[in-house]
Amino acid sequence: MLWDIDGTLLSSGGAVARTFLDAVEAICGVRPSPVGLDFGGRLDPEIAAMLVSAVAGRPEQVADVLAHFESLVASRQDALREHVRLLPGVLDLVSELAAADVVQTVVTGNLETVGRFKLDAADLVPPIDLSLGGFGASGVDRTAVAQIALDRLAAAGWRGSPDTCWVVGDTPRDLACARALGLRCALVATGRHTAEALSALGADLVLSGLTEAATLRAAWFS
Ligand SMILES: [Mg+2]
Repeated sequence: MLWDIDGTLLSSGGAVARTFLDAVEAICGVRPSPVGLDFGGRLDPEIAAMLVSAVAGRPEQVADVLAHFESLVASRQDALREHVRLLPGVLDLVSELAAADVVQTVVTGNLETVGRFKLDAADLVPPIDLSLGGFGASGVDRTAVAQIALDRLAAAGWRGSPDTCWVVGDTPRDLACARALGLRCALVATGRHTAEALSALGADLVLSGLTEAATLRAAWFS
C-alpha cells in the first residue's frame, strides 16, 4: 500500500504550507501569494520552484528555500505537531492492513524530513515503513518517486506484481503516477477535490473518505 500523505492520511491545517511560504519569504525577501497556484500532488521541489518563480526569485534560490523549509519545520516541530490531524478512518484501516501483514509505505511529494515529521506526529510509524518510501526529492516527478518506492520494496524482498500494489491519494497526480507504473489507485475525496470531480478520472476506486473504505478492503483482501 503506497500512501500519499497530505489530504489522504492527515491534514496539517495549512500550518506546514505556511511554513513553506515563510521559507520563501526568508530566502527571496518577498512572501508569495499561493492563490491561483495548483500544488495538489506536486513534489516539494516543484512547489518551491513555483513559489520562487511567483516572487521573481532566482532559480538557484530553490535549493536554499528547501533547506530553509526543512530547518524551519525542525525548529517549529512542537508548534506544528499541534496542527497535524489524522483523517477519519485512517487509523482503523492502517491498523487492519498491518494486522494482515500488508507492507505499507508512502509515495509523497513531501521532503523526507517533513513527511517523517508529519507521520511521526500522527503516530503512524510504524506500521508505515518510511525506509521503503518515495519522497519529494527522490525523483524528478511523482512517477519517478513511486518507482523509487517500488525499487526499495523489491530490494527489501517484496515480490508482488505492480497490479497488486495500490496508490491511495487525493489528487489527479496520484492517479497519474499509478497509471504510469501499472499500479492500482484509490482516490479519496478528503483533500481539495470532491468525489464527483475525482470520479471522472477513472481510478479503480473513488472513496468519500477512508471511513468508507469497505470497497478498498474488499479489493485488497479478495
Ligand atoms: Mg495529497
